[in-house]
Amino acid sequence: MIRYFDAHSDTLSRILRLRASGEHADFKDSELLNNNLNNLIAGGVKCQSFAIFVPPYYDQEDQWNFALKQVNLFKTEILSHPEIVHITDLKRIDEIPDDKIGALLTLEGCTAIARDLWKLELLISEGVKILSLVWNEENSCADGIMSARGAGVSDFGKEVINLCNKNNVIMDVSHISVNGFYDVVKLADKVIASHSNAKVICHHPRNLDDNQIKALIEKGGIIHNVFTPPFVAEYEGERFYGTASIDDVIKHVKHIISLGGINNLAIGTDFDGIENYVTGLENSSKMQNYLTALQDEFGDQIAQNIAINNFMKLA
Ligand SMILES: [Zn+2]
Repeated sequence: MIRYFDAHSDTLSRILRLRASGEHADFKDSELLNNNLNNLIAGGVKCQSFAIFVPPYYDQEDQWNFALKQVNLFKTEILSHPEIVHITDLKRIDEIPDDKIGALLTLEGCTAIARDLWKLELLISEGVKILSLVWNEENSCADGIMSARGAGVSDFGKEVINLCNKNNVIMDVSHISVNGFYDVVKLADKVIASHSNAKVICHHPRNLDDNQIKALIEKGGIIHNVFTPPFVAEYEGERFYGTASIDDVIKHVKHIISLGGINNLAIGTDFDGIENYVTGLENSSKMQNYLTALQDEFGDQIAQNIAINNFMKLA
């Protein structure tokens, strides 16, 4: 079994949204979760990222409350399981024993902090080690990829990047506008795209074009391939909202390797943030299907590197 690092899941927000609709949604074994604990153990995860994600329809005050509820859920429930180790220093991922799973807090979009840098300091003190400035919309840091304006990083966004650089927090460029992408690559010490694919293979706005991929490779950044079907496969030029195959994901890996990114590839499943699935990757218990496919295609060492070693170079 190849153990792996997953840079992105929406498990915290999914649990809270399920509970708001009356479901119990126990992290240990709920079948409504892609990333329940039993699935994560079966799939061989070494360290799972848990994103704090607040959908844009929350008003500003509720944004912060919903972010804190996710921190609370992470601390009181996810970390309460004896199999889980809280990772607050990325270097410690290497030391996780075979019978334990690392849990890493991340932040998807800074809208919840408004313009209060102390709120970000608080989240970093709770253990956030990877963060993106913005989701698809616009906020005080930058514009997201679905924003028509497409502005880059604001002065406040630059303060956020400085704070992250000072605290060894990795900046995540998935979801940001193209202008914002290049600003972050220039200003941040460490950069990843936590859940994005190659636009040449699947022309979705959330994917990265070749110049962006090359800029990340040059920066020493990491591209975490994502299993969201609309970001994986196109069908006769149309965006494809059905299923996709593991081979379709491998096409993105091959393309990024062809651009020189063999040491810049990793995994960012987006589990619990997606409603349809790559066939054979319906939840984290199936992850060895992907890792075996990588092994068959590229050999054991490259599969291990994509699974975790490439990301660990940023720790
Ligand atoms: Zn996302």
